[in-house]
Amino acid sequence: MASSAALRHGVLAATVALAISSCGPQESSPPLAAGETAPAAAETSGSATATPAAPGDRLPDLVMLPVRSFYVAYEGDKRVLRFGTDVANRGEGPLDLTGVRDSPREADLQVTQNILQTGGGWRSAETDAVMRFEAVDGHDHFHVQDFERYRLRPEEGTEWRGSHKEGFCLRDDGNLGGTTSRYDDDDFYCGADEEQELTELRMGLSEGWVDVYDWYYPGQYIDLEGLELPGNFCVEAEADPDGLLVEKTRENNTTSALVRITETEVSLVREECQ
Ligand SMILES: [Zn+2]
Repeated sequence: MASSAALRHGVLAATVALAISSCGPQESSPPLAAGETAPAAAETSGSATATPAAPGDRLPDLVMLPVRSFYVAYEGDKRVLRFGTDVANRGEGPLDLTGVRDSPREADLQVTQNILQTGGGWRSAETDAVMRFEAVDGHDHFHVQDFERYRLRPEEGTEWRGSHKEGFCLRDDGNLGGTTSRYDDDDFYCGADEEQELTELRMGLSEGWVDVYDWYYPGQYIDLEGLELPGNFCVEAEADPDGLLVEKTRENNTTSALVRITETEVSLVREECQ
């Protein structure tokens, strides 16, 4: 069975062991729990980075879990480091994002963050985040740009190099003990090729759930060209590196690992570079 997790990242189903139900029609309004009302439509005006939290907010809390599944691989004839990442939401409410644009001629959808309230209902916070349709690398769906950042430096170096992945399709991939999924793969799959004219799109990550980016997904790599191997390197991953979204704390947004990379293999030296 074709996995929608594979479909959403353009990976052949044959290479994927996951078994998740297939895609359904796009749903433009959020799943609502008892006592909740739909978020208000996005307002449009400029804003700085994330707006401050307000009383009554049931905030999400993005937590970058340890980077995993390291492999030396090839993109064409370039040697790269591939790895998997996972962003968990350990907060009291979902990360709920709506992207809106006036017309399909605009590349970017401006993102409003919908924040669930303790008494039910939602508060809308404008953000500087954007969603964008990604046609290269077999994604063919919308992404939240810069939702995560990956980078690498030699253990004794100070110069970082970044990854090829810039955009992310948010969704509930795994349950870490949370509530019922609000963003299941039947209704939330970030749009499809024939939907690239959409002017409004919702995606999110429920509290208690994790958004998974496996090592074989497009862009889950950093070039190793020009680096001296074997050697020890620090790999770092950060959720919402530009601080565009409202959440409970940013103290758990970054994780790192010290890895030993040879021309063919990677081994974990320790969690956290220092
Ligand atoms: Zn994607």
